[in-house]
Amino acid sequence: MGRSVLVTGGNRGIGLAIARGLADAGHQVAVTHRGSGAPEGLFGVQADVTDSEQVDAAFKQVEEHQGPVEVLVSNAGITDDTLLMRMSEEQFTRVVDANLTGAYRVAKRASRNMLRAKWGRFVFISSVIGLSGGAGQVNYAASKAGLVGIARSLTRELGSRNITANVVAPGFIVTDMTNELTDEQRAAALAQIPAGRYGEPEDIANTVRFLASDEAGYINGAVLPVDGGLGMGH
Ligand code: NDP
Repeated sequence: MGRSVLVTGGNRGIGLAIARGLADAGHQVAVTHRGSGAPEGLFGVQADVTDSEQVDAAFKQVEEHQGPVEVLVSNAGITDDTLLMRMSEEQFTRVVDANLTGAYRVAKRASRNMLRAKWGRFVFISSVIGLSGGAGQVNYAASKAGLVGIARSLTRELGSRNITANVVAPGFIVTDMTNELTDEQRAAALAQIPAGRYGEPEDIANTVRFLASDEAGYINGAVLPVDGGLGMGH
């Protein structure tokens, strides 16, 4: 059955692959963007997840277009890496505001309709870094680890209503975000990946498509690494 889906940051990168994967599976998919416009064939709503009013307005547009959001993929995220000694409080709070508080904002807004419908799927895009930590990534790792706490608390709050909340923890995926790294950083990452290759956005999209399905209804509060073995042991 086709569901009403919203993917934050679905205008490019992993979010776009997730959106396309869910659309191919027959769902009605909306994506947020911050001014780039909607990718071809997808319904776009402009919203910055650091702004509750923009989030609320985006949900209203999605509701009018395709009905209340049944599957929420909280994917929007940023990095701002530097060692703790040099990390300003603004750098810390800006990353947490986008990656973690942003997820709280969209999850809260989606939850009321899921409760009414007694069905829902939350998928939070975390990171291997949220579980293993990363030098120079105190802000990012904290925000991504926090998503596990959100998903597991939501599972306890809403799990009895056919609502699941799961976390996908990607490893190294080829997107604009990882293209910013140096060749040395990229080579060092590759050496740590048992699969012997970087991940593609579609690797994440395939996992999210399954978690959004009826078949995945008994998977709740899980953290799924999709990382070619990079983070084994979590
Ligand atoms: P990109 O940098 O390619 O894309 C980031 C997306 O998030 C863009 O759509 C961007 O919108 C959106 N975004 C950022 N901040 C906000 C905001 N405040 N409000 C709304 N949208 C926002 O990153 P990826 O596709 O690589 O990453 C997607 C997610 O996957 C992120 O959460 C990232 O942390 C996570 N991840 C990525 C990994 C990787 O190796 N690439 C590994 C592990 C996790 P805009 O186009 O307007 O900038």
